[in-house]
Amino acid sequence: MPSAISNLIKSQPIHFHAIEDHHLQDAPCLSEINFDEIIHYLQENSETLKDSINDLMNESRSRVTANIKQVERPDFSQVHECKNEICAVQKVLGEKKGPMLLYLHHRYNINSSHLTNVFADPLGEQELSQIIHAVKDFPEKYFQNLQDYKIIRFRQGRVRSGLSAHTRASESKGSIELFDPWTELSEFSMRTSLSHELAHLLARHILIEDQAIDTSNQWLNLSGWKKIKDEFDELVWKPSAKTQFVSKYAKENPQEDFAESLIAFRYRPSFLKKIHPEKYYFLKEYIFNNQEVCL
Ligand SMILES: [Zn+2]
Repeated sequence: MPSAISNLIKSQPIHFHAIEDHHLQDAPCLSEINFDEIIHYLQENSETLKDSINDLMNESRSRVTANIKQVERPDFSQVHECKNEICAVQKVLGEKKGPMLLYLHHRYNINSSHLTNVFADPLGEQELSQIIHAVKDFPEKYFQNLQDYKIIRFRQGRVRSGLSAHTRASESKGSIELFDPWTELSEFSMRTSLSHELAHLLARHILIEDQAIDTSNQWLNLSGWKKIKDEFDELVWKPSAKTQFVSKYAKENPQEDFAESLIAFRYRPSFLKKIHPEKYYFLKEYIFNNQEVCL
């Protein structure tokens, strides 16, 4: 190994994940939005909130869940006192959480209301805030074509069988699922674990020559990813021996490489640029419209 590269690796340790809490603390241009700004956005768009409200308060949950114990049913009893949509969503989904959910749905097509899924629990204010901030860390245009995508806080105590993860992106269901361990993470880790799943989501919607970007030839070539037969005769992904990765997890397969590299681009751009400049320029061109993260 050339000494310049080995020195670089010594000075930039490779962790299991590309972004640890202290990296996010030092990240450039983190997106911020406060509650007043959310209300302001909703007031500006008051004419077009109705569809979002209907999606968030979809009553199918209360019908479907009539037989399931301990499920809070939505309380619509005070909605008649309201003169506008923001008030209605506050009465049913919470003073702060209602407008936050409405903002997330109206602006980014993401439905995080627990009312729409029999297996969901309500998200806390802090949790919702991390979701909004993670979403805002990516270019807004990628969310404009989503069809009522869901980010669901799975009911307490529920796990997917054989899964110990805190988060999971399910493209077939069009959702990101959050489990108990996610709510126990630090605020920073909540945000970056969501950003990682959002990176998987974006990858499915960004095509290069009809191929999802994270399995496109261009992306595979950057690390020399190839499918080979392992000792059990199973086809597995293998990168070229000389490639550098932003994290140990990124070495799993091209999709994890993409998700980890994308969040590295967003939160540690200079690190990605040093470790693998070609990936940096690829993500800059294809995801960030040829712009640096901070402008
Ligand atoms: Zn992943």
